Amino acid sequence: MNISVTTYGSHSALQILKGAKDEGLKTVLLCPRSRRKFYERFRLADELLLVDNVEDLIRGHIQKTLMNMGSILVPHGTIISDVNISKFIRDFKVPIFGNRELLLWESDRELKERLLKEAGIKVPRSFSSPDEVDCPVIVKLPGAEGGKGYFLASGREDLIKKLTKMSVKTNCEFYIQEYVIGVTVYPHFFYSPLKEEVELLGVDRRYETNVDSLGRIPASDQLNLDMQPTYEVVGNIPLVLRESILEKFFDIAERFVEATKRLVPPGIIGPFCIEAACRTPDDVVVFEFSARIVAGTNLFISGSPYSYLIYGEEMSMGRRIAREIRLAYETSDLEKLVT
Ligand code: AMP
Repeated sequence: MNISVTTYGSHSALQILKGAKDEGLKTVLLCPRSRRKFYERFRLADELLLVDNVEDLIRGHIQKTLMNMGSILVPHGTIISDVNISKFIRDFKVPIFGNRELLLWESDRELKERLLKEAGIKVPRSFSSPDEVDCPVIVKLPGAEGGKGYFLASGREDLIKKLTKMSVKTNCEFYIQEYVIGVTVYPHFFYSPLKEEVELLGVDRRYETNVDSLGRIPASDQLNLDMQPTYEVVGNIPLVLRESILEKFFDIAERFVEATKRLVPPGIIGPFCIEAACRTPDDVVVFEFSARIVAGTNLFISGSPYSYLIYGEEMSMGRRIAREIRLAYETSDLEKLVT
């Protein structure tokens, strides 16, 4: 079999490599030099190609080596956050598992909002100017990764005050979004182009600092401390949803799949995550999506309650990707999975 599952050494690389090995596929790791020892400990990569950073992936000799090894690159969050994504999807000629155009839609907030709206999914309001704000908002920086630099404002005046304090122009490229008061939920889906079906493989919630620690401080002390919540992901916590609301999430996921087919053909291929906040069990608002594997799936390397229901074996997202590749290879359908 002249194919190998290839990924970059960070984010969910161990899971992706393990999944490929479990499916009997060859594995290649593009490994940052500084992390060689770490990745070698796990012995999951058949080939380790040392690179300086993720931008090295588009270098001619690296691409040539990957082509010779029949590489299929499985992209993850580091590829979205650490490269110029338009350049990457244009210049990286090695097959990518998934729809490379969608990586661009994920990284552009306006395209992202357009796709969710086109899908008929309930999204938070967004504001083009602080003057329009009439509710609590979360302010997101361009290209911010993992919630870095986001901040909360309780309303218009608070927002203007905070922006002035930061000495930024109020018409700058901040993305101002309604803050949804509700619990956050991050279901991990897989769309199989071979089966033409959406599978739910796990759910997590993110553990974010310092917002998830504020509740440990009594209200009277919070007032004295003048604390501001921040939203940087530190880890992920497993979650199961009330069975009665699972259908709602399948409905959202299927709408998402259909919208990607209409707007970004051939549509989503493989893993994606819907980032939602539930105001009530019936009132679900989607504030983001990821169009590739998310790090929350690292919780379920040996499977989740949901993947067990479907497969009855240890099925991680990484392994599910590899299984789709293996099945497509066996039926000469690989072109349905790569772009
Ligand atoms: P993101 O990078 O967009 O996934 O956001 C990082 C974190 O900020 C999320 O995991 C949430 O905790 C929080 N967050 C982002 N957008 C919203 C929103 N519109 N309403 C409430 N919380 C949000």
